[in-house]
Amino acid sequence: MAESKVRKAAPPKAKPAAKPRKPETRLAMVRRARRINRELAELYPYAHPELDFENPFQLLVATVLSAQTTDLRVNQTTPALFAKYPTPEDMAAANPEELEEIIRPTGFFRNKAKSLIGLSIALRDEFGGEVPGRLADLVTLPGVGRKTANVVLGNAFGVPGITVDTHFGRLARRFGWTTEEDPVKVEAVVGEIFPKSEWTMLSHRVVFHGRRICHSQRPACGACPIAPLCPSYGEGETDPEKAGKLLKYELGGQPGQRLKPPGNFPGEAAARADAAAHQGKVADMAVGQ
Ligand code: SF4
Repeated sequence: MAESKVRKAAPPKAKPAAKPRKPETRLAMVRRARRINRELAELYPYAHPELDFENPFQLLVATVLSAQTTDLRVNQTTPALFAKYPTPEDMAAANPEELEEIIRPTGFFRNKAKSLIGLSIALRDEFGGEVPGRLADLVTLPGVGRKTANVVLGNAFGVPGITVDTHFGRLARRFGWTTEEDPVKVEAVVGEIFPKSEWTMLSHRVVFHGRRICHSQRPACGACPIAPLCPSYGEGETDPEKAGKLLKYELGGQPGQRLKPPGNFPGEAAARADAAAHQGKVADMAVGQ
C-alpha cells in the first residue's frame, strides 16, 4: 500500500515555561500592603461607616441589623426604629411583634428582634443603659460578635479596630495579605501588617473598594487604580470600558448608601475638595488602561 502523502501536523511547540515569580518576601508584602492603603486613602478620602447613626447605641443596633442585608436597607429602616425606641430602656421593653414589624425589611427579623431586645436588656441591667467601650464587654451582648464590636469601637469610641466583613476578607486575600478564611485570623494577620492607628480607616477603605470596584463576582480590574499592586489583577473584567460599567455607588454615578452622610468623618474636607478629581481619576483609568 502506497505510503500516505498526508503529512502529519508538527506537534505544537511547547510554550516557554513561564518564569516562576520570585516569592514575595514578608518585607516586600508589607510595603506593598501599605502602598495599597495609601492608594485607597487617595481614592476614597471620604471613606466612612455607611450606616447612619447618631450615638453608640444606634450604631450597635444598626450593625446588628446589617447582617445579610445592605447598609442602605438598614438606613431606610432605622429612622422609624429609633423614633419609637430611642434608648436601650425603650428597646428592652419593646413588644417583640411590634419591633419585628419595623425591622422586617432587613430580613431575619425574628432573630434580629431577639438580639436587639436581649442586648438592650443587658445594656439596661448590666451596663447602666450605656454601650460599653470595651471589646470584652461588647461581645457578651446577645447577637454581638467581634465584627460588630469592632465597628462600634472604631466608629463610636475611636478605639482602633479592623472590621473583617465579607468584603474585607475577600480583598485581603486578593491583595495577597493572607490566605486565611476565618475572619478572626484575617483580623490578626492584617493587624500585624498595619499600625493600630490605621486600622479603622483601613477597614473603611477596603470595604469601600470591595463595594465599588473589587466586587465578589465581577471585580472591575480594568478600572481599578490598585491593579499595579494587586496579584489578583485579571480575576475580573480587564477590558477598561466594560470594567468602567461595573463601578458602583458614587464611582458609577449613583448615590451612596447613607441617607444622612456624616458631617465629621475623617477626611471630610479632602473629600469635598477632591470628589470631582477622583471621579475623573477613575474615569481616566477606565479609558486609559
Ligand atoms: S485589580 Fe482586580 S482583583 Fe485586584 S483589587 Fe483591583 S479589582 Fe480587585
